[in-house]
Amino acid sequence: MLINISEIISTEFKKTSFEYSLTCDSLIIGGQQYQLLRKGPISFSVDNTGGSKVRFHGTVDLEFDIPCGRCLTSVPTPLIFDFDQEIDFDKVRKGELEDLDDISFMEESSLDVDKFLSGEVLMHFPARVLCRKGCKGLCLK
Ligand SMILES: [Zn+2]
Repeated sequence: MLINISEIISTEFKKTSFEYSLTCDSLIIGGQQYQLLRKGPISFSVDNTGGSKVRFHGTVDLEFDIPCGRCLTSVPTPLIFDFDQEIDFDKVRKGELEDLDDISFMEESSLDVDKFLSGEVLMHFPARVLCRKGCKGLCLK
C-alpha cells in the first residue's frame, strides 16, 4: 500500500493516521516463510513535527506460526510492538542523510507501508522460539 505524504512533509504539524490489517497470509522473514495467524490491527500515524520532520509511529499486533527451534512443533507466537521513527525530509532533499536504507520505504513522496512494516517486523522478530521450556528436540521428546 502506497500513501502519498507529500502534503504532510510540506505542511508543518499536519498529521494523518489510519488502521489496517495485512492482506497476505504469510511473510517471508530471513528466507523462511511464516504463516500469519493474526494480521492486525496495525495502527499507523504520520505526523509532521516541525519543518520537514516527519514522525512515523504506531502499534503492530500480529501473530505468527513459528516452528519450535528444536523440535519444529508449530508455536503460535504473538508479535506485538510499538514503532517510532523520525525522518527529516529536509536532509533527504539536500542529500545529507547518512544511511539511505533509512528511507528505503519511501517511493518519491509516497510511503510504502508494507515495506516500512516489514522492516519493523524483521527488527522485532524473535531469533528463536521454543514450544516449551527445556524442549529436548526431535529425538528426545
Ligand atoms: Zn519443541
